[in-house]
Amino acid sequence: MSRWLVMGPEKPLPTVSRSGPAKEVAGGLVFKLGPVCANCKQVLELRVNLDYFAGRLPKCAKCDQPINWWNVLVTMLQEAQSMQQSLALAGAQWTYFTIRIKPGENFHLDLSSYGVPADARLLSIGYTPVGAASLFPLEWHGNIPLRRPSMKTILIPIEITSKKEDIGPTEVAVLAAWLPALGDEEPWRDFVRALQSHVDGDYEALVIPASAAVESGISRLVKRVLLKHGSKERVEDFLINGATFSHQLNIVLPTIAALSGWPVLADTIRGQVNRLRELRNDLAHNGKLKTPLESAEAAQLLAAALLTHRYASLLMIQAQ
Ligand SMILES: [Zn+2]
Repeated sequence: MSRWLVMGPEKPLPTVSRSGPAKEVAGGLVFKLGPVCANCKQVLELRVNLDYFAGRLPKCAKCDQPINWWNVLVTMLQEAQSMQQSLALAGAQWTYFTIRIKPGENFHLDLSSYGVPADARLLSIGYTPVGAASLFPLEWHGNIPLRRPSMKTILIPIEITSKKEDIGPTEVAVLAAWLPALGDEEPWRDFVRALQSHVDGDYEALVIPASAAVESGISRLVKRVLLKHGSKERVEDFLINGATFSHQLNIVLPTIAALSGWPVLADTIRGQVNRLRELRNDLAHNGKLKTPLESAEAAQLLAAALLTHRYASLLMIQAQ
């Protein structure tokens, strides 16, 4: 049996684990994944609040060690990339179920029959034969193979053993990652795109959507605060013709935060958002990056964008 055929997401990586109980649905189980404590491996509830941005780190409920969300996110993005588990950061859910494929018989798989909502956006799907496996399912494709996963597919069983007498029905575990239809609103759509590019290893492709998401978050916040002190026309003119995103991020926002008694975004995070902005400009002006992005740097850029967006969302509530 060729090993690559049966490699699959059977073993969760130690940086990620199931968060909360799995929900039973018709034919399968639905669950979410979350990062784990670096110290005791307890699964953490991913809830970043303003205390964190003020430098007061939350503590692990099990071992009492401080949790630095920056490290947690960077680790999760880097290490859970290969199994696409970092899509949990975009609100992905996983559905697990088993099917039985038989020799010479195509299997018509429709995920909506296994508890995946029919309007969900499918992010990834994996197949792992279990037990005494003699067959492996291959996805059918037409003349032009589609590279994105589909809610409905035809599975063709191929034999993975040369011993004819061993060939028989095979149990296959199916693990599908999907997003509820509601997760499609802006700027979440941009983050989903950025996270998917990251798990696909297409790091350059995450730059534009990650910057768009973080820029819209900051601009909305700055605008909300400025509108308390200036007319709509003047504020819009200032934000379009006066303060570029760099000015908003590096001058206007830290000033507003300091004057309002809000936590100021940590330099590490702001620095990475600045780097993301530079890369975005590189792409916009030259059509490509000066130097290719590596996995580790891409994870830091994405973690910074996610945390900055969270910071801006929390302050939007304060600014009401
Ligand atoms: Zn712990």
